[in-house]
Amino acid sequence: MNLFSETGLREEILTAVHELGFEKPTPIQAKTIPHLLSSKQDLIAFAQTGTGKTAAFGLPSIHATDIKNKSTQTLILCPTRELCMQITKDLTNYAKYIKGLQVVAVYGGASIENQMKALSKGAQIVVGTPGRTKDLIKRKKLILGDVERVVLDEADEMLTMGFKEDLDAILAMTDEGKQTLLFSATMSKEIINITKKYMNDPVELSAARMNTGAENVNHVYYMVHAKDRYEVLKRIADINSNIYGIVFCRTRRETKEIASKLMHDGYNADALHGDLSQAQRDEVMNRFRTGQLQLLVATDVAARGLDVNNLTHIINFNLPDDLEVYIHRSGRTGRAGKSGTSIAIIHTRETRKIKDLERKFKIEFAKELVPNGKDICTKQLYMLIDKIERVEVDEKQIEPFLPAIYNKLEWLSREDLIKHFVSAEFNRFLEYYKNAKDINVSENQRPDRKEKREKRSRSDRRQTSFTRLFINVGTKNSLNPARLIGLINESLDSSEAEIGKIEILKNFSFFEIEEKMEAQLINALEGLRFSDVKLTVEVSQEKPTVLNRPRHKPKHKKARASKSAGKKRSDRSKRFGGGGGRKRSK
Ligand code: AMP
Repeated sequence: MNLFSETGLREEILTAVHELGFEKPTPIQAKTIPHLLSSKQDLIAFAQTGTGKTAAFGLPSIHATDIKNKSTQTLILCPTRELCMQITKDLTNYAKYIKGLQVVAVYGGASIENQMKALSKGAQIVVGTPGRTKDLIKRKKLILGDVERVVLDEADEMLTMGFKEDLDAILAMTDEGKQTLLFSATMSKEIINITKKYMNDPVELSAARMNTGAENVNHVYYMVHAKDRYEVLKRIADINSNIYGIVFCRTRRETKEIASKLMHDGYNADALHGDLSQAQRDEVMNRFRTGQLQLLVATDVAARGLDVNNLTHIINFNLPDDLEVYIHRSGRTGRAGKSGTSIAIIHTRETRKIKDLERKFKIEFAKELVPNGKDICTKQLYMLIDKIERVEVDEKQIEPFLPAIYNKLEWLSREDLIKHFVSAEFNRFLEYYKNAKDINVSENQRPDRKEKREKRSRSDRRQTSFTRLFINVGTKNSLNPARLIGLINESLDSSEAEIGKIEILKNFSFFEIEEKMEAQLINALEGLRFSDVKLTVEVSQEKPTVLNRPRHKPKHKKARASKSAGKKRSDRSKRFGGGGGRKRSK
C-alpha cells in the first residue's frame, strides 16, 4: 500500500491527512490500517513513538465511528497526561472534516467535573489515563456499553508506571466482543500476560524488528572516567554545533546540575524535570519543540509525551538501569526516515550493559573515541570559514562603512587579515581546547573515585527524608502496593516522587513519600475517590509498625513530616520486586 487513497479510509479523513502533509502510510500504518478496516481480530503492534502509531490506530477508529451514535465506541488508554493530550489533538485533527465526531481526553491532575461535562455531551472516542478512566467508569460518567474497540497505547509504559490493576479493572468492565489493540515498544513478560488474559487470537504486526532499536539509529558509546562525563557532553556539543537533542540523566538533581552547567558554559540548553510546574514544563517543551533550544536535559519521566521528530542526537549521560528504557530513549531519534545518533557515555564498569543491550535488542554499538581538542577546533574552524564563504553580503548596507575600514586595515596583508578575523571569532575556543587532555579510557583501566562512589551510593541508595502518610483505604477497598503507586503517580501526573515503605492494612494504609512532595501529594489526593471511597490523606503520627486495628488518630497535620519517618531509605524496589511498581527510586 503506497498511498492513503488506497486504504479505503473515508474521504474526509484522506483530506485531513493530506492537509497534514502525510503523503503515504508509514510501515506500521500500512500494516494496521487494512487489518483494522477489514477485521475484528485483536491486534498486537510493536511500535515506538515516532512510527506513526497514533494514526495507525486513530484513522481506522475514526473511520469506524458511527457519528449518529453519541456513545463511546473507542476507548484509548495511555500512560501519561501529555500523551493523552497529544493523541486527542492528533485524532481531532484527523477527524477535522467529520462533523459531530467528538474526541475527549480524561486524565488525572485536572478537574474531573469538566471532563464529566465533556463526556455528558457525547464522546465517541475517549482517550484516558488508566486511573482517571477507571474513576469515571465507576462514577458511571463513562459508559462502556457501546465500546467496540479498546486501544492500549504504550502498554509497556502503563505497566511500568503501576497501572496494571487499573487496566485489569477497566478491561474487565468492557464487552467481551470488543476488539483490543495493543501497542508497545517492547515485549515483556507482563505484556505477554496481558495479551494472554485479554486478547483473543491476536494478529501480531511490527514496524521494526521486535524488541529492537529503530533501524536508522546509530548507537555509539564513549568510555571515560565518570568524572569526565560532563566534559564528553561538552565535546559532543562542540563537535556537532547543529546538535538538536535530549540529554537523559538519572535524577532530577543531576538534570538540574547538568543543565545549569551547560547554560553557564554558554550552551543553548535547559532542564526538564519533575520539580517544574506544569506551566514551566510547557514553556521549556515549547522552546525545545520549536527549535529555540538545542539541548534538553531531562529525566525519562519528564520527557514522556514530548514528541519531537527531527532530533539529531540522544545522549545517555548515564545508562538507565532498565535496559528497555534505553530503547525508548534512542527511539526518539532516527524518526520519519531521518537518521540519528544515540550516544551512551559510559565508564569502565559499564561495558557489560552495552553487551546486554546488543544481545537483548540485536543492535550494535560502535565504540568511538571522544574527540580531542584538535578535532573539535578543526571542525569548528571549517564551519566558521564555510559560514564566512557563504554569508550573504548586503553591499548597500555596508558600503558607507567600508572606506574607513579599508583605511584602518590597510597595513595588514591578506594572510594576516584572515588570521585576525579567525582569531577574533575563535580565540576563546582555541584557548579552551589548547591543553585539552585525551579523556578516553579502556576497559582495563581502574575505576576512578567517582565511579566507586557512584556504585556505592547507587547500591545503598541516597538518603532521602520521607514523610509517613495515612490514607483511609486498605485491602478492604482492593488497595495493594501497585495500585497505591499508580494512584500516587496519576494524582501527581509523574512517577518521579520517591516512595518509601508501604503498609497496606485492612481498612486503611500507611506509606512514605519523600518529604518535599508531602504537601503536593496530600493536595492532589484529597477528595479523589478510590473504589467509591472519598480519599483522606494525612501526615501520620504513628510509628511505622504493622497494626491489626486502627490506632491512627487523625491529627490534621498537613505541613510537616513525621520525624519517625524521616531519613529512611527507600526499599520499594526490594519489597515489590519491580513487578507492577514504579521504576526504582532514584
Ligand atoms: P506517532 O508515532 O504517532 O507519535 O507519530 C509521529 C509523528 O509522525 C507525528 O508527528 C505524526 O504527525 C507523524 N506522522 C504520522 N503518520 C505520518 C505519515 N503517514 N506521514 C508523515 N508523518 C506522519
